[in-house]
Amino acid sequence: MTSIYDDPAVFADESLDGFVAANRQYVDRLDGGVVRSTRSSPGHVAVVIGGGSGHYPAFAGLVGTGLATASACGNTFASPSAGQIYRVAKAADMGGGVLFSYGNYAGDVMHFNQAQVRLRGEGIDARTVRVTDDIASAPPDQRHDRRGVAGDLTVFKVAGAAAEAGKSIDDVERLARKANDRTRSLGVAFGGCTLPGQASPLFSIPAGKMSVGLGIHGEPGIFDLNMPTATDLAELLVSRLLAERPDDAGSAVVPIVNGLGTAKYDELFLLYGKVEKILTAHGLRIVEPECGELVTSLDMPGLSLTLFWPDDELAEYWSAPADTPAYRKSAVDTQARRVAAPHRHAVAHGEPATAEAVRLGHLAAVALRAIGTVVATNEDAWGKLDSVAGDGDHGMGMRRGVDAACAAADAAAGTGVHNILSCAGEAWSERAGGTSGALWGTGLIQVGNAFGNKDTYSAIDVVSAVRAFAAAVTDLGSADVGDKTMVDAIVPFVESLTADLDHGVGLGPSLIGAAAAAKRAADATAALRPRLGRARPLAEKSLGHPDPGAVSFADIVGGLAGIVPSVDVSARGPTGKAPLQSSDVPGPRDRGVTA
Ligand code: ADP
Ligand code: MG
Repeated sequence: MTSIYDDPAVFADESLDGFVAANRQYVDRLDGGVVRSTRSSPGHVAVVIGGGSGHYPAFAGLVGTGLATASACGNTFASPSAGQIYRVAKAADMGGGVLFSYGNYAGDVMHFNQAQVRLRGEGIDARTVRVTDDIASAPPDQRHDRRGVAGDLTVFKVAGAAAEAGKSIDDVERLARKANDRTRSLGVAFGGCTLPGQASPLFSIPAGKMSVGLGIHGEPGIFDLNMPTATDLAELLVSRLLAERPDDAGSAVVPIVNGLGTAKYDELFLLYGKVEKILTAHGLRIVEPECGELVTSLDMPGLSLTLFWPDDELAEYWSAPADTPAYRKSAVDTQARRVAAPHRHAVAHGEPATAEAVRLGHLAAVALRAIGTVVATNEDAWGKLDSVAGDGDHGMGMRRGVDAACAAADAAAGTGVHNILSCAGEAWSERAGGTSGALWGTGLIQVGNAFGNKDTYSAIDVVSAVRAFAAAVTDLGSADVGDKTMVDAIVPFVESLTADLDHGVGLGPSLIGAAAAAKRAADATAALRPRLGRARPLAEKSLGHPDPGAVSFADIVGGLAGIVPSVDVSARGPTGKAPLQSSDVPGPRDRGVTA
């Protein structure tokens, strides 16, 4: 339970403001995160970490000398947006390249990848090493699909120490990758965590039980056990992790006992003592262990054990000095304060728009407000659905996204549809975070691009626009139909709309039919196992429940189909012209979307 806030919607932002105020000797605030306030080292690699908030000290608390250069900080449990990550990386860049490192979650991957593309486009050598230490989240032969949990620390620490030593980007990347390859974690929880403003936890665990293999966003565990004794718990964690000991591991091991939120330090130390005894009994040599809160999950009662298997080279960087708000090791020279200029987000738009593009821009703003109404009505239901096998934030993320998109569209009122939807899409992606935020944001931007700036519009443009939305989502997310994502609802929507228009059905009824097809397809996802996204590791729990992103898409297009007649996008097309045949419509840009 989180009790201290004015407004849960700005909880993460206000908490980060306070964190910076309390740690000015370490960090400066940027739009989208924090960067070291200490002196920079020209030519060195910048290690840029990040992720959702609610995991303190990950991620902002790990910014400082010998560790991360900067952190992009998203909303609670939601990835930072590509724009935020880009701005933070630009502020961190010292000329030696940028190494991104973060836990492997679909939303983070999308946003960090987009930021990386932007940096590379500007000639900055940006690379990525994702942390994949959570052995509960995928079998060993799919190790690279695993989630990142407390193993973040070993990877960030090694990368940060190598960057501090002036190593090249090739070396920093290689060392970070090697650290990740030699890090394994497993967590347990005794109860769920509660998002700020929510009255009940994301999930609950029956009294006297313990859930094994939970994720740090409240993704439920893989299986439940009767609450064991501390000795049995230590045995369970150590034996599971030893079974996955890397082939090239030596006898040196770094154990990390990590509290997830409300486990007492006394309990963590008690468990650590037992873990160390078991490891020593296996003939292993303990190297500089850690015991405390390193990667948390709001107020989750639980803990994780990480085993890191350093070779000599990794041990050197693991032991190197570091000084950050939350993590200190050996002595570090006090650094002179550096003034980091905050980067402002400037969106330059303003192409001269045609009268019809302005009219369609107005309709787009009306449609966004209608989406806002659908989101407000369904926010709680979508959140509950997402808590079955995800992290429960889908409703909240959609609301943040659509609110920001509406505000951006209002600010751009009077301009063309292209500009209005670009601003709205950027704002959606920026504020919503998470996987669906990246997908909806980029989808809206591409809808705007598809409409462009024309003298006339007709139903053919609506078809091109929905195809552009579908292509944007599949381009960025690489999901196929059947993977149990929003794509499962989008594709039948596009197919139905195109087929009806092709048969001469008016735009209004075609949209209603397409929305019904999307709804049927979204409902049918209940029978599927998720193959992508945060729900993938919890495939069994997801069975019997529809995919949240597919349901929200279907609800939204259902709402939009309902308002079409009232906003004068009549059966004769948005500007009164007869709909064209779909044979005239350009083909899909991506697989999975067929006419
Ligand atoms: P997060 O998973 O980051 O918490 P949300 O909860 O807001 O993001 O959205 C989850 C939804 O995103 C899923 O239900 C699914 O529909 C959609 N999704 C996840 N991964 C993909 C992907 N690769 N392609 C398309 N949609 C995806
Ligand atoms: Mg989610």
